[in-house]
Amino acid sequence: MYKILQKETVAPQVVAMIVEAPHIARHHQAGNFVVLRIDEKGERIPLTIADSDSEKGTITLLFQKIGKTTEELGRLKAGKTIRDIAGPLGHATPILDYGHCVLVGGGIGSATLYPILKALKGKNNNVTVILGARNKELLVWGDRFSELADEVLLTTDDGSSGRRGLVTEALKEVMDKSKVEIVIAVGPIRMMQAVAELTKPYNVKTLVSLNPVMVEGTGMCGACRVNVGGKTRFACVEGPEFDAHDVDFKELGNRLGFYREEEQESMEIFRKKKCKGECKK
Ligand code: NAD
Repeated sequence: MYKILQKETVAPQVVAMIVEAPHIARHHQAGNFVVLRIDEKGERIPLTIADSDSEKGTITLLFQKIGKTTEELGRLKAGKTIRDIAGPLGHATPILDYGHCVLVGGGIGSATLYPILKALKGKNNNVTVILGARNKELLVWGDRFSELADEVLLTTDDGSSGRRGLVTEALKEVMDKSKVEIVIAVGPIRMMQAVAELTKPYNVKTLVSLNPVMVEGTGMCGACRVNVGGKTRFACVEGPEFDAHDVDFKELGNRLGFYREEEQESMEIFRKKKCKGECKK
């Protein structure tokens, strides 16, 4: 059992939870994730570890309430428990003395970059962070990134904060201005694909953190298979980060939508049973 110590809504439908998980906190490295289930009959879902504190023995999970399980998780109050959390899972982000690094985050995916920023700064890299969201309310943890990064550039689709436009426009400007050694991007598939297409002609090493459908997270079920460089790779044990220039984003997008009808049906049933009209559509 893992106790929820603190819960905060950080953006509409986006929740940050601090959870007591000393073993995971002790072993967490940037790029890792966990697979959790709320109760014995619960669905297993992968979530990024957005932060950890090994002294306090806590991890921070940041998630969007987009499906039945995340909606249910988001309704748990501080003091309640989560039945199982397996982790830390996945390979850690390769943290080297790169020089100028650019981290590009889209919407809720941005939180994944926070431990990566911490680790890169630990190696004295010069880090530019570009965070993009549809609007000001959906920009997550901008202040936290600003405390550590050498430069933070904010973009919103509607211009309500930072510059109006997409993260790729800001990234292009950064790459035109200075030599970039590595770009790490996390966010919606179409954003990661656009980043990959942009950085390729610049010949800049680019990593993306993929979030395909995942079930058990240990490489047994094959649900999270992705096509990278023409080969089938399992994101849970061989990822979640891969060379962006080799990822088949089209296949990834198709596979992600595979259970959409079942996901919607499950959400409707949950809403009828539990939400009594309180859950947002
Ligand atoms: P969104 O659709 O609101 O997009 C966020 C930002 O991404 C936009 O403001 C824009 O700057 C950029 N973007 C989007 N489409 C683009 C395009 N075609 N070209 C260039 N830039 C583009 O994002 P959201 O609704 O907050 O979704 C966040 C996504 O992050 C979800 O798809 C979620 O699955 C993913 N995510 C991934 C991880 C991971 O570990 N890989 C973790 C959490 C969330």
